[in-house]
Amino acid sequence: AMRHLPYFCRGEVVKGFGRGSKQLGIPTANFSEQVVESFPSDISTGIYYGWACVGNGDVHKMVLSIGWNPFYKNIKKSVETHIIHTFKEDFYGEILSIVIIGYIRPEKNFDSLEALIAAIQEDIEEAKRQLDLPEHLKLKEDNFFHLPEGKIVNNH
Ligand code: ADP
Ligand code: MG
Repeated sequence: AMRHLPYFCRGEVVKGFGRGSKQLGIPTANFSEQVVESFPSDISTGIYYGWACVGNGDVHKMVLSIGWNPFYKNIKKSVETHIIHTFKEDFYGEILSIVIIGYIRPEKNFDSLEALIAAIQEDIEEAKRQLDLPEHLKLKEDNFFHLPEGKIVNNH
């Protein structure tokens, strides 16, 4: 799972398939199919942590899920970012920049909605802890987030 990390990626936020993430208090900003197809095809599905920035805004901690996209009968992946920050408004159509740093766990099925939410809360706590480590904080300051026209260089 770690082979492609850190992974830098930028793309437009599109409408998801209404899994009701926002209703659970955990909205996930979805990347377009085109952006998802640019990902390494062998990147593991599961939950990751990293940094994210909307437009030219501040850089925030995030948790990210790479999963199977039910809209495409689970033959295509979906990439969804939950930014650990409270936004005043939705940001559909804006450019989301992320760096994926580490892997937390594989995808799982849960017996209940409560169990799912509890697991996500744990993922968020784990992401917060990991991202406070000096080696990970460093990437928050990466030029990638400050130069919108900057070149995307992965695996460096
Ligand atoms: P969809 O199915 O369209 O992805 P969600 O319920 O997952 O709907 O909500 C995602 C949308 O919520 C994002 O596209 C974004 O515009 C908005 N949003 C607001 N706050 C956040 C946040 N902290 N992290 C991610 N998206 C957020
Ligand atoms: Mg979503």
